[in-house]
Amino acid sequence: MIAIDGPAASGKSTVGRLLAEKLNFLYLDTGCMYRAVTWTALQHEIDLNDETAVTQLAHDIQMEIFPAKGEEDGRHYTVHVDGQDITWGLRTPAVDANVSQVSSYLGVRQEMVKRQRAFGQRGAVVMVGRDIGTVVMPDAPLKLFITASAEERARRRTRDRSDQGHTADYADILADVQRRDEIDSNRQHSPLRPADDAIRIDSTAQPPAAIVDAILALIEQNVAISIKVK
Ligand code: C5P
Repeated sequence: MIAIDGPAASGKSTVGRLLAEKLNFLYLDTGCMYRAVTWTALQHEIDLNDETAVTQLAHDIQMEIFPAKGEEDGRHYTVHVDGQDITWGLRTPAVDANVSQVSSYLGVRQEMVKRQRAFGQRGAVVMVGRDIGTVVMPDAPLKLFITASAEERARRRTRDRSDQGHTADYADILADVQRRDEIDSNRQHSPLRPADDAIRIDSTAQPPAAIVDAILALIEQNVAISIKVK
């Protein structure tokens, strides 16, 4: 079990995915679960200020996450909600703008954490999010906290979005990243923060592949970690 946390666009998902590939672990990006609840709430025109209604939706929603199967649209996984493929809907600006509010609700978090822990029972997993090392898997033998400057993270998001053919304004994206950091770090339940025993990595000037190599070297060197993560 490897827990990876960090703010939006810090590179944690790419590092987590590559690490899972190299170690032949399962991979779960928990952000997509909060995004799926948000997307569905928007589709059903549920008032996002109505905590009870959003929490009920989080309980009712049927969500499946599969690894990509060679689709040519650049996806890394597929998310189905109630049988519908909503993978690309999860990355829209409307979801970006609202996901932090939805994920601040305790009942929503409790339901997602329950599902994440059930996923963790399936075997060796790299799990990525905001509270994996602190709440979801506090006993994970290896915890990483990946950060980067807000400007670099906004540059990455802008590039991703324009690569996907969407309009992308750097200033708007920077403002969104900073706003989400603020809400995610200051919320009452499971705020974004490193676990006391997490290894902190700054990805501002390091490509994901270099970070993955460093983590693999660390696992190799540290026999205690390497036995436990296997
Ligand atoms: O990682 P990503 O940017 O896709 O996450 C979207 C949002 O989901 C975050 O801004 C945060 O509000 C929420 N989230 C969370 N806990 C997690 C993963 C994501 O609250 N474990």
